[in-house]
Amino acid sequence: MAVLKIRFEGDPILRQKANKVPKVDASVQKLADDMWETMLDADGVGLAAPQIGLARRLIVVRVPQGYDGDDDPEYTFRLANPEIVKSFGEQSGIEGCLSIPGWIGEVPRAESVTVKAQDMTGRQIRIKASGRLAVVLQHEIDHLDGILY
Ligand code: ZN
Repeated sequence: MAVLKIRFEGDPILRQKANKVPKVDASVQKLADDMWETMLDADGVGLAAPQIGLARRLIVVRVPQGYDGDDDPEYTFRLANPEIVKSFGEQSGIEGCLSIPGWIGEVPRAESVTVKAQDMTGRQIRIKASGRLAVVLQHEIDHLDGILY
């Protein structure tokens, strides 16, 4: 695995709409592994491929245990072509972004979301998330559409 260079606000790749991953193959798995290492190295909870300079619909997420301040387990995902298919409710909280270091902002989000995606075996999965995990998924999926909070 390798730590990749994170792109910062002002880099045009961050404002592009990313392309669909046609097939989850070994190169996609390796890229997800490298993104994973890059996210951990930067102490982040999520990273999207445009943030390392690739316009592809691929995200990694690691929400640590107890992130919501309760008994939540750790959540980890490597997702290709993630898409929000349902969302409910409202929440708003402070978010940071590895591509905008030093800045945090309060962002309105859905309280819960259902995300459809492919896992790293190419299988279609659905994730139901609420609270902070839902926020992280919405933030990373926004990156794939060129949206920074
Ligand atoms: Zn971000």
